[in-house]
Amino acid sequence: MGRTMKIGIIGGTGFYETEGSEITVDTNYGAISLFHQEKYERDVLFVPRHGKKKAVPHAVNYHGIIEALHRSGVTAIMALNTVGSMKEEIGVGSLVIPDDFIDFTARKSTFFDDELVHVDMSEPFCPVLRKLALKEASRRCETHEGVYVVTEGPRFETRAEIRMFRTFADVVGMTLSPEVVLAREKGICYASICLVSNYAAGMQKTLDVEEITRVHAKRKKDILAIIDECIKKIPERRNCGCHHAAARGRL
Ligand SMILES: [Zn+2]
Repeated sequence: MGRTMKIGIIGGTGFYETEGSEITVDTNYGAISLFHQEKYERDVLFVPRHGKKKAVPHAVNYHGIIEALHRSGVTAIMALNTVGSMKEEIGVGSLVIPDDFIDFTARKSTFFDDELVHVDMSEPFCPVLRKLALKEASRRCETHEGVYVVTEGPRFETRAEIRMFRTFADVVGMTLSPEVVLAREKGICYASICLVSNYAAGMQKTLDVEEITRVHAKRKKDILAIIDECIKKIPERRNCGCHHAAARGRL
């Protein structure tokens, strides 16, 4: 790998692109496979979130993935997530760039087990990456901003859960947290591009995985093009506060 900026792409369901050369990075959480490609004079490291064994959302090695990207020198991550819409106006096949999240999982969401570090989450996504993703996504597809509720899964939500969630959030999914928190702890800029693959429980007749696969196939080209533009345009110099988060949160 060269001395250029390093960008991490975390691919979700339907994104198992493994072009480029495979690199294995040892972490405190096991070995992680990254796929390296050079694009627009930048080093791009792709990680399929669910790995080769297609781990279920609660068993994804979030800590290993973020540590592997950090050890590789990655300073910016664009993540791809699949979500269900809880708002009629956010249609299936549209994209959502979350501006906040609410975590309903019971997952461990820190690297700091032995020291008191409270990272600031008042703006959980990197403002620079988020705006870039929003701009590039809006050019190609119907795109919204919104609040992402993270559930434990792997089951889908109940209708009552959705009735509650939709009063304070827009989309629901299983994979954003703890990834977004761990990236912040490591000082990596992070933003997410979410594909709406279905309406949440109670808003459509049934939820089936086949439908999700169909939506993915339809939107894949657009999402890859958006990611490409982001790789090209992520600013080399960081004017956001992401990289100081852990230092500022240390007691
Ligand atoms: Zn940032």
